[in-house]
Amino acid sequence: MTLAKRDQESIWHPYTQMKTASAPVAILRGEREFLIGEDGKKYIDAVSSWWVNIHGHAHPHIARKVSEQLHSLEHAIFAGFTHKPAVELAEGLLNILPDNQAKIFYSDNGSTAVEVALKMCFQYWSNKGLPRRKVIAFNNSYHGDTFGAMAVSARSAFTAPFESFLFDVEYIDTPHEGNIEVLKAQISELGDTVSAFIYEPLIQGSGGMLMYEATYLDDLLAVCKENQIFTIADEVMTGFGRTGKLFASEYLQNDPDIVCLSKGLTGGTMALGVTSCTTEIYNAFLSDDKLKTLFHGHSFTANPIACSAALASLELTLQPQTMQNIQRIITKHKAFAEEIKDHRKLKQIRQTGTIIAFEWETGEDSSYFSSLRDNLYRYFLGEGIILRPLGNIIYILPPYCISDESLEYVYSKIRNALNLF
Ligand SMILES: *Cc1c(COP(=O)(O)O)cnc(C)c1O
Repeated sequence: MTLAKRDQESIWHPYTQMKTASAPVAILRGEREFLIGEDGKKYIDAVSSWWVNIHGHAHPHIARKVSEQLHSLEHAIFAGFTHKPAVELAEGLLNILPDNQAKIFYSDNGSTAVEVALKMCFQYWSNKGLPRRKVIAFNNSYHGDTFGAMAVSARSAFTAPFESFLFDVEYIDTPHEGNIEVLKAQISELGDTVSAFIYEPLIQGSGGMLMYEATYLDDLLAVCKENQIFTIADEVMTGFGRTGKLFASEYLQNDPDIVCLSKGLTGGTMALGVTSCTTEIYNAFLSDDKLKTLFHGHSFTANPIACSAALASLELTLQPQTMQNIQRIITKHKAFAEEIKDHRKLKQIRQTGTIIAFEWETGEDSSYFSSLRDNLYRYFLGEGIILRPLGNIIYILPPYCISDESLEYVYSKIRNALNLF
């Protein structure tokens, strides 16, 4: 029996309507930007396996470092104990994160990194005896699938069954020239009732690769600072070079109080989450009163294998060649966008760094559940390309090592798709 068939007997997949889903594609191995299927077919992973892979699959450097670590220490409890991979990774991250970031808190994934960020903010105010209940988030935001992360994400089809369980959040539009003064006033008015403002800097991923400008976000961060509202940069998708700089926050003048990282953190090798924060936040938990402790931790907090994968990935990220690859992708995307921008089927093309999104003109329903989405998905899969449209939006978010040839191939199939669908 094929793996795909055996899978269907025993596995429930994420974000998948199991009744109507086709059999999953079984992957036997990966190499650079390719995944190789059980059927022998080679797929270009043009979405970096849900945005996590940055240096290509089964990278030998990461594999060697992980393997070495496995032979010396696979895991150790992280309350009261520590180890070299965790310390070195924390030091390495603090070296490259915005200057005001002072401490690293480890967890398991992007959603938990967000949970920790929210708990830090809520408890900061509770520890000070001045509780602030509200959070500000953007419309169309996505911050993860656990309850707190869901609560600060936009209400959508994904959150509908759970809506009555989610805490209240004040949603505002992403900023642009036309609404920036209104948004600033909105935040000031909420003032000292708000503990935190959480945002995906420059680009809202799951919301549909929606992009907005750094300068206006900077204005919002400034108003938050005036009102002592903590700013949480959810860089789970944008971290580690995605937007053309190591972190999207580098496009801003105002540093965030908290940064959430995951996805590219381990180069897409395994799950790991990081929440970094300022000294001010950290200090609010220092007390002789034990109740002021941050009571959060996971069994696998700072797992040494995950930390060593992250360290190896960080070494690759900081090599000059990686930034050159990122620039190469940015330039190629730009040229392709220029070439097809007037196509009648395209409503909009947008690009931030290595991410380029194509919004299809559709007369009909353009939701996440549209049939266009399924048709496009199947078409690209048939052509040996993994692209997962968000409704009528197709985007390329490739590993940085993707070859020019593979990029050209993906572009050529997008050109074809524009004429077919
Ligand atoms: C994917 C994502 C998350 C959630 O990360 P998981 O590891 O999937 O839990 C949170 N925030 C953003 C911006 C993301 O893109």
